[in-house]
Amino acid sequence: MEKEQLLESIDLFLLDLDGTVYVDDRPIGAMRATLARLRDLGKKLVYLTNNSSKTEREYREKLTRVGLFDARDGVYTSGMATIEYLNAHCAGRRVYLVGTDALKAEFRAGGILLDEENPEICVLAYDVGLTFQTMRRLDAFLRQGKPYFATHPDDVCPTADGSMPDVGSFIALFARSAGRVPDRIIGKPYSDMGEGLSRRFGVPAGRMCMVGDRMHTDIRFANNNGMKSVLVLSGETTAATMRDFPDVPDLVLPDFNAIF
Ligand SMILES: [Mg+2]
Repeated sequence: MEKEQLLESIDLFLLDLDGTVYVDDRPIGAMRATLARLRDLGKKLVYLTNNSSKTEREYREKLTRVGLFDARDGVYTSGMATIEYLNAHCAGRRVYLVGTDALKAEFRAGGILLDEENPEICVLAYDVGLTFQTMRRLDAFLRQGKPYFATHPDDVCPTADGSMPDVGSFIALFARSAGRVPDRIIGKPYSDMGEGLSRRFGVPAGRMCMVGDRMHTDIRFANNNGMKSVLVLSGETTAATMRDFPDVPDLVLPDFNAIF
């Protein structure tokens, strides 16, 4: 697909963060100008992340700090998608949430009842303060057979000096200890997050384009949800490694500034 054709067919760009709009919190090239130009063309920009350790407000603040956020933009995290999923499908059920204090507050504000003693449902999010006590408690609830959700499947989270364990690694741990894998995973590349986006922003999937640097989450997400996709080679994937994956992006760019 040609760039011009893509730009014409898209109303909303979903922007992955690490490796796509910034690396180590530094915008990639002239990203500020590129995003400003897209807004001038009337395109809606939504920052999309699987990282459920931070809330919508924290991401708005962070993106404002690095100079990328505009009042017209949106933010959507796998934590937000999970809150919406629970409200739609498990309304009123008591939830044991493995997550940061900020995420717990976001869940409560979203109408989710949290319960550490006698929950009906377990949710594994990205708890960067995870303690053994929390692990032990989740393990016990899982062995009791309680429904089990995870916010996202990523094995590792990129950092300035390499990577750190992410929710996918903890899913593997509980698969060993409790013999359970999540009944459902909400974030990229799955469909609950895609449906949540269409609901929240009122744009059909076919008019959205996912821009990201990871084949197995970003590009798979677009293909699973009927969205267009742009793979950028400014992060994890190279022109050589993209061929290791079954998904094919609509467009491949060295970085997202090359959209113009
Ligand atoms: Mg990325």
